[in-house]
Parts: sequence; structure tokens; C-alpha cells
Amino acid sequence: MSNAAEKPVENHVFEADVARLLHLMVHSVYSDKDVFLRELISNAADACEKLRYEAISAPELLSDDPTPRITLTLDADNNRLVVEDNGIGMSRDDMVEALGTIARSGTRAFMERVEAAKAGEGAQLIGQFGVGFYSAFMVADKVDVVSRHAGSAHAWLWSSDGKGSYTVTEANISDAPARGTRITMHLMDDAKSYTSKWDVERIVKDQSGHVPVPIDLIEKPG
Ligand code: ADP
Ligand code: MG
Repeated sequence: MSNAAEKPVENHVFEADVARLLHLMVHSVYSDKDVFLRELISNAADACEKLRYEAISAPELLSDDPTPRITLTLDADNNRLVVEDNGIGMSRDDMVEALGTIARSGTRAFMERVEAAKAGEGAQLIGQFGVGFYSAFMVADKVDVVSRHAGSAHAWLWSSDGKGSYTVTEANISDAPARGTRITMHLMDDAKSYTSKWDVERIVKDQSGHVPVPIDLIEKPG
């Protein structure tokens, strides 16, 4: 992801609860890491649904691209998995709020349960609760999110290694989706299977079969 030199990099520290949740994710011994994909696909589908709803009163938000779409790009050579949607997207402020704090009540309940649980039991709760976006850090040691809110002339890059802080920078518009969000996971060495079409197809079919938005799989040629 290239950044023009004049674009300042904002450094942010995660809210304490997020830092604790991320620590749990990164050190998770929870074996069913596949759930991260369900979480990211569900967020992508939510974003498409939000756009559809807002476009009822503001049809210009759809521009020349009215059909919702989720694209998974498998990049085995670089050990990356990319989840992209053409949904509502996020502004800079949306990103800092949504990807730096714990807004959802379900995650708060999860944290309380983890705190109350004995050591080692916390991991088992991950699957039960569905812990959202931050679950990407179970399989990735760096996550980049580029997003462009529908109708905006600006795109933003959020980036983190999940170790307590993240950066936000204005992205070059030519590197960003025309609308929506692109999440690039730099996969851990032991998470290479998430670049395998066969594996990812199976996970999507098992976990995300009900998602009302078409999901395309692309293998990035090496
Ligand atoms: P939840 O989906 O329950 O709100 P998540 O942790 O999965 O919690 O996501 C947190 C928030 O991040 C979402 O509510 C949304 O505001 C934002 N977000 C995550 N992924 C996307 C996306 N693909 N497009 C737009 N917003 C997103
Ligand atoms: Mg979610």
C-alpha cells in the first residue's frame, strides 16, 4: 500500500479492552480459527445491507455499481488473504470508532465471561460468542483495512499488528476500492491454508452459506 509522503500517519493506542481482547486472540489456543472468516464475511454483508438501506433515500450512493459483492482474493505467493466488499465503507472517524474500541455489547459480555473464566477456558468462549473483526488477529500478524465511504472522495488506511496500537493514514484514492472496504490479512506462517482455494471454499460453504451477498473467490496468479 503506497502512501504519498505528505499524508500524515496518525498513531493510536487501542482502548484497554481491545488490547486485552487482541492479546487473547493472538495467543489463542482456540483451534477453530476458521471463524474469523465468518466474522469478516458477516461484516462485509452487513456493510452491503447498510448501503442498500441508505440508498433507498439516497440512490446516488450506489453510483454505477448497484450490485452488492464480496470478493475473497487468495494470494499464496505473499501469504495474504483479502476480503473486499462494495458496501457502505468507513470514514476516518468510523474506522477509529469501529476498529479501535469495543462498541458491541456482545463483546463486552464475552470479555466479562473471559475474565471470570479460569485460565485456558477463555479460548473456548471465542467460538460461542463470535468476537467480530478482531478475530482476524488469530490468523494474521498484520491487518490492513482500506475503506472508502459511499459518496466520499477520501479513502483511509487502518493498519495494525494487533500488539496494542494502530495507525490511520489517508490512502491514495487510486489504491482504494471505489466504494467499500478491503481487508488484507498478512497471514501467520501456520495459517497458509487460508490461501488455498479448496480450503477457503469449504469454510465459506460451511459457515457463510446463508449470506445474502454473492461471494467470489479469486486466486491471485503468482
Ligand atoms: P459487529 O459486526 O458486531 O458490529 P465487529 O467487530 O464484527 O462487530 O465489527 C465492528 C464494526 O466495524 C462494525 O460494526 C462496523 O461498524 C465496522 N466494520 C467492520 N467491517 C466492516 C466492513 N467490511 N465495512 C464497513 N464497516 C465495517
Ligand atoms: Mg461483525
